[in-house]
Amino acid sequence: MYLIKTRIQESKIHGKGYIADEDVPIGTIIYFYGEKDKRISKEEFDILPQNKKEHLTEFAVEDEFGNWVETSTGPYTNHSCDPNIMPLFIEGYYTDIVVKDIKKGDEITIDYAQFFSSEKWTMDCNCGTKRCRKHVGFGLKTDCEAESYYEQQIRHAVGNLNKVNQPIHDSSDKYAKQISNILKSCKKPTVGKYVKFGLIKS
Ligand SMILES: [Zn+2]
Repeated sequence: MYLIKTRIQESKIHGKGYIADEDVPIGTIIYFYGEKDKRISKEEFDILPQNKKEHLTEFAVEDEFGNWVETSTGPYTNHSCDPNIMPLFIEGYYTDIVVKDIKKGDEITIDYAQFFSSEKWTMDCNCGTKRCRKHVGFGLKTDCEAESYYEQQIRHAVGNLNKVNQPIHDSSDKYAKQISNILKSCKKPTVGKYVKFGLIKS
């Protein structure tokens, strides 16, 4: 579940998607791995039946150690080559941060190629943005321009972390409280530890 108001409806990009039901400014954390998200260790993953592995590969998120988190937002968050949210680790806690102001009615999108994957994968893309790479995947080479574009966006968004009204402060989830405390503890956010997956090299 996102921390903002959304509805699931037909997407212009693919199948169904999450449509924002409110305006959300850049720098807002709209998702975090919470208590209810299912964690699967590498050892547990390795002994799963093939169909379950394939399901997770499509809809869950893997870290660089082979552990997985099955998120509640996975199935309906579509890919875009110019997304409005990006993955961001805050002191080790996974979140999604808004990198472009979201208007009510916009679809929430993320770049799938930013996620680590132990399997190389590719897909054709028709996201319709000017930056569409047409063929995307983990491990595909991207140009420096795309990387610096994302780098700039995430830095700008991180710079706004404490300037916006963060819905995560209102959550009772224990992980949300920990993230919330980190955000509140620094006057000027110094989130330098975010892990940049896939496209973006640290
Ligand atoms: Zn695209």
